[in-house]
Amino acid sequence: GSKQSVTVIGLGPMGQAIVHALLGKGHQVTVWNRTASRADAVVACGAVLARSAEDALAANELVVLSLTDYDAMYAVLEPASHALAGRVLVNLSSDTPEKTRAAARWVSEHGGVHLTGGVIASPSGIGQPGSSTFYSGPHEVFEAHRSTLEVLTGTDYRGDDPGLAALLYQIVVGMFWTSVLGYWQAIALADANGLTASDVLPHATEMLTGMPGFLSFYAERIDAGEHGGDVERLAMGMASVEHVLHTNADAGVDTALPAAVAALFRRGMDAGYGADSASSLVELMKTAKA
Ligand code: NDP
Repeated sequence: GSKQSVTVIGLGPMGQAIVHALLGKGHQVTVWNRTASRADAVVACGAVLARSAEDALAANELVVLSLTDYDAMYAVLEPASHALAGRVLVNLSSDTPEKTRAAARWVSEHGGVHLTGGVIASPSGIGQPGSSTFYSGPHEVFEAHRSTLEVLTGTDYRGDDPGLAALLYQIVVGMFWTSVLGYWQAIALADANGLTASDVLPHATEMLTGMPGFLSFYAERIDAGEHGGDVERLAMGMASVEHVLHTNADAGVDTALPAAVAALFRRGMDAGYGADSASSLVELMKTAKA
């Protein structure tokens, strides 16, 4: 057929979803996974299980990696590194920008090309509209494989630097986990007061629905270096986060998260930002704490 055949290495929940999406669009898929039994479901749907990582690399020019991290990539590919020549590795494993840059150099030393991907979707979102992946690395290589990669998610190519997709991924994922922890703290506090997660849901949803306006308002001001206290002041925020902390303490729930929030606000107060916007905390956060 005219569809490009693809190798997928790594069959966790994400790798399996990737294989199913490719098979569903008529691509031939060769797979390999350290634990061979995890290939059973995709083999039942038509994927071909390679006997070794080396055979999996040899099978196709386009090789998608979906591993826990980049150490797992070396564990799998170092013994088969002579088979990297001429391969395009699309690495959808997450790790730090520094690790992705080092990996791009390592793959290139072995005659292959590395494209970094940061998937902003859960496995259930793979192959569905509305999901997206950051990509970075050589542009012409990305373009040559774009249509196949778009079977998985929308593609958002950001530039040549192999670390860029990883950086943007970590920026978004950092916000994701911080927000999710805020949600779970809210549910724990609600539970201590006889309310369920479902009771919290409409209020949590309404609060987050207002965030796009908040984000764009502050992006403009922060980029202009403005932290004026004309809209809200850090001193007001300090009192507010202490009320949150004390409400959690009074309820007898864990206070690690609200205490960490209050500690950051306290440092901003100590730095003399009390009359400025709480966004002045950005200035504090730009430098590692001594
Ligand atoms: P898992 O951690 O469940 O998948 C891990 C895969 O890596 C398995 O195939 C596992 O093999 C393999 N692996 C791990 N360590 C080694 C090693 N030392 N040697 C060989 N193989 C190894 O991850 P997911 O499938 O959930 O996700 C894959 C990537 O996608 C991750 O980087 C994750 O951050 C990212 N991602 C995941 C999302 C999700 O919701 N799941 C969302 C967005 C991104 P084995 O089966 O033998 O253990």
